[in-house]
Order: sequence, then structure tokens, then C-alpha cells
Amino acid sequence: MGKKIIVAIDGFSSSGKSTMARELAKRVGYVYVDSGAMYRAVTLYAMRNGMVNTDGSIDEEKLVAALPEINITFQPAGADGVQHTLLNGEDVEKEIRSMEVSSLVSPVAVIPAVRERLVALQQGFGKEKGIVMDGRDIGTTVFPDAEMKVFVSASPEERARRRFLELKEKGVDAVYEEVLRNVEERDHIDTTREVSPLRKAADAIELDNGSLTPEQQMNWLMDKFQSIEKENI
Ligand code: C5P
Repeated sequence: MGKKIIVAIDGFSSSGKSTMARELAKRVGYVYVDSGAMYRAVTLYAMRNGMVNTDGSIDEEKLVAALPEINITFQPAGADGVQHTLLNGEDVEKEIRSMEVSSLVSPVAVIPAVRERLVALQQGFGKEKGIVMDGRDIGTTVFPDAEMKVFVSASPEERARRRFLELKEKGVDAVYEEVLRNVEERDHIDTTREVSPLRKAADAIELDNGSLTPEQQMNWLMDKFQSIEKENI
């Protein structure tokens, strides 16, 4: 067996990358980090502290000034099998998945100082390697030297359907058309922003999530992982 590696899984929102990343980490005994949850936690902080203007824009100056006070950590999955996101020690896992946070998170994620702070935290999590991280810019900006990079794609409709079912399961009220609009809006902001836009790293392997069953995806991922880790000596 080779040395521990870094696995970067990027893709559009609700492409199923988190489920894949979490399952891969579990199977190979690596740490899993959901970088999107970190942007969501910063967004929740902004909402709670009066940093969202009445027109829905973000008070960038206030938020940037508060960044040193924002700490984000993760509590490993317990009995419920879910990893919980902690904002300054408080479990905010449920709140950060709300539609309100979803619609404000992309504008927060375009702020360069927010990205700088979160990227630094993320790189800290990867110091010891043995990590699977999912997001938008993990293979391009956070870990450009990651040994394994995957880019997950799926159509906006397929992703909205997935997100809609997920929200329903969690008991969140949602309308499919609204979810689809949110997915498309976030795609647009995420791919056109100036700092670290979402794009496939040149050396990432692409996985079309629309064409494979969950089991096929996992087999595909495990195959890639095992051959890359084996060669990493
Ligand atoms: O992955 P998730 O959908 O929870 O991410 C929420 C939002 O956070 C994304 O739409 C994107 O705007 C932002 N994000 C980012 N960079 C990452 C992860 C998430 O900009 N690495």
C-alpha cells in the first residue's frame, strides 16, 4: 500500500459529490471535509449578525471585518451517520441547509477575503493528507497538487430533482421550480466569479453522475482510489 493521499472532488451543486466523497472517505478510513458547509456557515453568521442588506446583498465590509471571529470545525459522524458543522462551537448543521442560506451562499462565496480565510482553513485540514474534500475549487485552488482529482457532472434538472428530494426528506418545505432556479443561479455565479471559479482542473478525471447507479459510482471511485494510492510511494 502507498502513502496517504489527498482526494479532491469538485462539481456543480447537488451533483451528488458530497454523498460520494463521504462514502469514499468512510470506506478508506480518511477524514471527510465538506467545504460547501464552511461557506454556508459563514453565510449563516452573516445572516445572524445583520450583514445582509434589505435588498439581499451582503454587507461585505462588515463581514470581512468579522472574519477573524468566525471559526468553523466539524464533529465526526455520530449515531446518525452525519458529520455536523460547528460555527464557533455551535452545531448549525440543520440551519446551514435551509433555502435561505442556499440562496445567499454564492454571493458570500464570491468575496475574496472569505475565500482566502476558508481556503487557509481547508489547507490546514489537509496537512496530514488522508483526506477527501469536496467543493468547487478543491482541485484547482485548495489542493492543486492533490494526487486524485474528480470532477462530477450532471444536468441541472437531475441535480434539482436530487436536491428537492433531499430537502423533502429533511422535512424542509420546497417547490421543485424554486430549487431548479436556485441550482441554475448558483451554477451561474459559481462559474463566472472572478476568484476561483468552478471549473474542471486539467488533470481531473470526469464522472458523469447522471449515467451511473450509486453502486457503479462507488466501484468506479474505489478503483481509481486504489490504483492511485498504490502508486503513491
Ligand atoms: O456544496 P454546496 O452546494 O453546499 O456549496 C454551497 C455554495 O458554496 C456553492 O454554491 C458555492 O457558491 C460555494 N462554494 C464555493 N467553493 C467551495 C464550496 C462551496 O464557492 N469549495
